[in-house]
Amino acid sequence: MKKISIVVPCYNEEESLPLFYKEVDKVTEKMAHKANFEFVFVNDGSKDKTLEELRKLAKKDKRVRYISFSRNFGKEAAMYAGLEHAEGDYVTTMDADLQDPPALLEEMFDTLETGEYDCCATKSTSRNGYSFFRKLFTKWFYKIIGKLSKTEMVAGARDFRLMTRQMVDAILSMKEYNRYSKGLFSFVGFETKWIEFENQDRVAGTTKWNFWKLFAYAIDGIVAFSTTPLLIAAFLGILFCFVAFVMIVVIVVKTLAFGDPVSGWPSLACIIFLVGGINLFCTGIIGEYLAKTYLETKQRPIYIIKETEKSGK
Ligand code: UDP
Ligand code: MG
Repeated sequence: MKKISIVVPCYNEEESLPLFYKEVDKVTEKMAHKANFEFVFVNDGSKDKTLEELRKLAKKDKRVRYISFSRNFGKEAAMYAGLEHAEGDYVTTMDADLQDPPALLEEMFDTLETGEYDCCATKSTSRNGYSFFRKLFTKWFYKIIGKLSKTEMVAGARDFRLMTRQMVDAILSMKEYNRYSKGLFSFVGFETKWIEFENQDRVAGTTKWNFWKLFAYAIDGIVAFSTTPLLIAAFLGILFCFVAFVMIVVIVVKTLAFGDPVSGWPSLACIIFLVGGINLFCTGIIGEYLAKTYLETKQRPIYIIKETEKSGK
């Protein structure tokens, strides 16, 4: 029988965890004749009683394993750690807040069992429950990254997907520090079947994302999967050189032909501001890539473990 690993990143999920476990447990019972299960919970430096909940679950249920980080490393790091520790033939990543319906697991499992697909991924059709700005921002983000990157990013795609061991190993082979999973999942290729579901509300607790966190995450995604912004910087440089050249010609001709006196310093001030701004913008783009390269070269660990179910109390 195949073994399915359920990887769950958790950050301050003490309220959601018991509900999550209860729901998923029902599904595993229903699928008991088809597959074995293991849970790999990753406590991403929670400040509440998440770790205690995990210890309790691990005591109660032999299938439950957990990894607890020394501090908050972010969801990407938590997913990476979970995938690294998962032992199953099939591996899925799920949010702890039940926004990923566990009931879909059976359909996903059956899809992979046909042998036609390496991955069964989900996307939510609506973004109900998210703020107006988040929806707008998300829409724009997918439009922009779609234009900038060769790696396809599916709008509305969730991290909830069931993958074969082969695909998981491919993802784990990418040891980069700046992890952007939506891109990595797509980058490795393999046959993916998409299933859709209505967006669910969080069962308990609150979202860990705010506008600036999401914004930074979006920039990370673009920098990780596209170098086009660097090209834009170079293009702007060429464009401004061209404009400057035209302006020089116009001014020289005007002065020689009409003997114009010195005038127009307000326009000069505006131009200095504009060019200065563009300069800083482009330096910023280059700086962003440089910063990412700097962080990669340090080869710091993606996460640090403090406790697991084997070492735990
Ligand atoms: N999460 C995490 N580390 C973080 C932030 C979030 O492990 O630093 C987990 C969180 O516990 C949840 C999942 O990532 O299981 C998704 O987070 P959330 O529900 O807050 O995001 P949203 O659904 O609002 O996009
Ligand atoms: Mg959520």
